[in-house]
Parts: sequence; C-alpha cells; structure tokens
Amino acid sequence: MTFPVVGMVGGGQLARMTHEAGIPLGIRFKLLSDTPQDSAAQVVNDVVIGDYRDLETLRAFAQGCDVVTFDHEHVPAEHLRILEAEGVVIRPGIEALRHAQDKGVMRARLDEIGVPCPRHRIVTDAADVTRFAEEGAGFPVVLKTVRGGYDGKGVWVVGDETAAAEPFRAGVPVLAEEKVDFARELAANVVRSPHGQAVAYPVVESVQTDGVCDTVIAPAPELSAELSAQAQRLALRVAEELDVVGHLAVELFETRDGRILVNELAMRPHNSGHWTQDGAITSQFANHVRAVLDLPLGDPRPRAKWTVMVNVLGGDYPDMYPAYLHCMARDPGLKIHMYGKDVKPGRKVGHVNTYGDDLADVIARARHAADYLRGTITE
Ligand code: ADP
Repeated sequence: MTFPVVGMVGGGQLARMTHEAGIPLGIRFKLLSDTPQDSAAQVVNDVVIGDYRDLETLRAFAQGCDVVTFDHEHVPAEHLRILEAEGVVIRPGIEALRHAQDKGVMRARLDEIGVPCPRHRIVTDAADVTRFAEEGAGFPVVLKTVRGGYDGKGVWVVGDETAAAEPFRAGVPVLAEEKVDFARELAANVVRSPHGQAVAYPVVESVQTDGVCDTVIAPAPELSAELSAQAQRLALRVAEELDVVGHLAVELFETRDGRILVNELAMRPHNSGHWTQDGAITSQFANHVRAVLDLPLGDPRPRAKWTVMVNVLGGDYPDMYPAYLHCMARDPGLKIHMYGKDVKPGRKVGHVNTYGDDLADVIARARHAADYLRGTITE
C-alpha cells in the first residue's frame, strides 16, 4: 500500500497545522519553504528550501508529489499553469485559484454568478476614486490592491481624493469598494473534493482588529437559522461554480438590515477555521488534506456548543514561555497552539481555542490567555 505525498508550498503556520493533521491520516508530506526557520519547516522532515517564485524550484519540488497545494496565494499563476500543463496535480486548480489571487477577478466572477458583494469597480487613479464615490458609494472608499494583500496590508480606507493616491504607488491594479457599514463579519467555511463531495462548517463570527483577525466564535452567536443556511449555501455554491478543491473560506459582511455580502475568498485553510482543531469532529486541516487527495471528507459538525479562538499576537516580550506556563496552570482546559515563530509585535505567533456551554466564559478564558501571552495583562 502506498500512501500519497502531499506537497505544500509555503512554510507558514497553515502548512505546519496541515502537516500535523496529515500525520494520523498516514499521508506523506513534503514542504517547499523559504527558510529552515519557517513555522512548518521546523517540524516537517521532507523540506525543500527554495523560492516559490522560481519556476525551476517549483518544478523540482513537484517531482514526487501526488498533489501540490498551498498555504498562501502568492505563487505566480503563470508558473502554476506551466506545471499543470506538465501534468502536476495542483489543488485547488489554477482556474479556481485565480479568484483567490486577484480580488478584481474574484469580484467579476461573483458578479457573474449573482453573488452579493459590496459595490465595487477597478479604478485607475485618485480622480477615478472620486468618480467612483460620486457614482453612489460615497467617501470613505475602501481601496485594495488586487494582488499581494493579507491581514489588511494592501487595504486602505480613504476619506478623499488626496488620500486615494497612495494605493496606486505599488503599480498593481486597484479595486475600489463601498465601505460597508456592517453589523459584524462572518465566515462560511466549506471543503470540496474533486468528486464534488462538499461539507459546510457552522458559520462563524470573526472579529478583526486593525485588519487582523482577532477572535472567532463558532457558531456565530444569534445568527438566524435562515441567514446561516443562506451563508452556507452561498459558500457551497461558490465552491462549486469556481470548481474549488480543498478548504474555501468565504469572508462575509452581515449588514445591519440582515443581508450578507462577500468580502473575500481564501482557498486554503484559514484563520476563521482554526477553531475546528478542537471544536469540530474533523478539522479544516484534515479536511483540506482529504479533499486534495480526493478522499471522502470528514464530518464538519461541532463537538461543543461554543468554541472560541483568539489569536496570540506578539507583544513586547520576546519570551512567551513563562506566560505560557502560567496560562496552562491557570486553565487546564485551554487548547494552546503555538507556531514556533519568533515573537514580534503584532505578529500572529499562535492561537488559543476554548470550548464549553457558557459563551461568556468560553470567550473570557480564550481572551485572557491570549492577552496574558502577549503581555498586555499580568493577572
Ligand atoms: P486582506 O486581503 O488583507 O484580508 P480584506 O479584503 O479581507 O483584506 O480586508 C481586511 C479587512 O478590512 C476586512 O476584514 C474588513 O474588516 C475591512 N474591509 C475590507 N473591505 C471592506 C469594505 N468594503 N467595507 C468595510 N470594511 C472592509
């Protein structure tokens, strides 16, 4: 019996946790990582150190992989097209991936299939941003470089034409969007296999601070059954229409009048799904591996009434270990996940999952641990 080799491009924490999920599945895991210090490179034994922007490196890496998948969306599409033509199995495929790599392509496609999005269009310069505002969106306008953004980098909220000049400096096309006055942000996470099997996780609420995901609550509190089902159906439909294979995160805005609009798509395990490691029968990482290998998918249902994830961001203290000991001693029910990354202010270095029946308590415990680890509280 030969168990397949999953090749993962990108050595961040998503790769590290996907590798972890692959261990009990018995699959073999090969990693292409920038440096040996990267989060996943520290723990994967079959690692190639190299540059994912280099075609030859990618080509050599793909040799011996049964399937190649990704922990980020920055691999050049032209390289993937060549590899796909040479017979490398890439999942999600390049046609699907284009929509996660380019926000302009994503918006155009969602319009085409009638998925509700914020009002938007590609803008050419600052004066064009003013025209976009005058067409009905009004200032402030949200500007996004169509490629290369993450964690709010590549996103600007501009109040006037003068401020609108900045995003154009990168030389990348810019997408303008109306600034949605949302009630909250949600994520509908689904996993789809090449067979067309798909599973939907409970819709979660995600709280961002300064463009970075801070807290995720599963399921989203007080979300009506109707809106929840609508969000799940929407995500499943996007996965099918775009032929996504693997985990698809659909980031949503819930408007104050009870509608949902799509903000973003991510075709890989996603921060809004980290809660599934401890809170779902099958984690997003395990299901991503199962999907890219076209294995039957695992049960996405929750194990607890509430699961909460809070990201651990770096603070001013480079050594989190003493704080980590304290948190473990104080609350043996915490599920702490650390990524092995150097602590830098604001950097995601881990997350804490908690679960239980009392939502306020579950939130408070995860929040406390994350704040204590960061060093923003001392008790
Ligand atoms: P990234 O690719 O960096 O994750 P996103 O497009 O997800 O960028 O934007 C980051 C955050 O900025 C969102 O989670 C949301 O809080 C805010 N944001 C993005 N687009 C809009 C919008 N059109 N209206 C209001 N807020 C927005």
